[in-house]
Amino acid sequence: MNRYIAIIGAMDEEVRALSEIITERTSPKTPFADLPIYEGFLHNQKVIVARCGIGKVNASLATQYLIDKFAPRVIMNSGVAGGLNPAVRIGDLVIGESSLQHDFDVRKFGHPRGIIPRLAESVFRAEPALVRKAWQVAGQELPPDKVHRGLIVSGDQFISSLEQKQAILDFFPEAICAEMEGAAIAHTAILNQIPHVIVRAISDQADNTAPDDFDKYLLNIIPTLNAVIEGLVRELRG
Ligand code: SAH
Repeated sequence: MNRYIAIIGAMDEEVRALSEIITERTSPKTPFADLPIYEGFLHNQKVIVARCGIGKVNASLATQYLIDKFAPRVIMNSGVAGGLNPAVRIGDLVIGESSLQHDFDVRKFGHPRGIIPRLAESVFRAEPALVRKAWQVAGQELPPDKVHRGLIVSGDQFISSLEQKQAILDFFPEAICAEMEGAAIAHTAILNQIPHVIVRAISDQADNTAPDDFDKYLLNIIPTLNAVIEGLVRELRG
């Protein structure tokens, strides 16, 4: 049995190189205005790669569509992120052990920031076996001090000031990076009972220079990120 592995990235830059090395590639039409997907084989494993667009709504819509249409056995989110922990530097790699939506705010009813009322779990745990494998593969690509694992926080905001960054860390001191899709993909995967993992390369440090850093480093950091995603796919070949 060779069920799909789904790989989801937000932006063209994050999925282009991966989609170009897919063999027997087709690009099935989707019912959506702007959701390109690529289907085929990567290292003999059936894959579906999607460019979901930026932000949580785009991310969860794409995830649910891929689940309904292709029934993937694993969902990976690959992309870039802003480092929140000082040890997490541009060019480093982060593997999400868990993720949450940092902009979810129902504190007025006594719920801690990030908690979604009436949902069993608001901190979305990635599949531990996938985290372990991603960690091993990343360790072959980068020195140990450049690979991190822990909590990834997502929200519909580009974090680009010390104030914004500190506001997140005040609520989630253990967060290691911020991005805009991961927890939405995780949320959707978990509600569908499909294992997932988030792998992110650090494009900026979520501070005042983040917009410039993002533009400057985006393309440089993608090859290592893709090497880890490819390595993970190879490990999971089934
Ligand atoms: N420059 C782009 C917008 C990028 S938004 C444009 O104008 O089209 C940032 C993207 O990179 C999101 O997909 C998000 O997941 C990730 N990201 C990288 N650094 C981030 C940060 N500091 N805060 C939030 N998201 C970040």
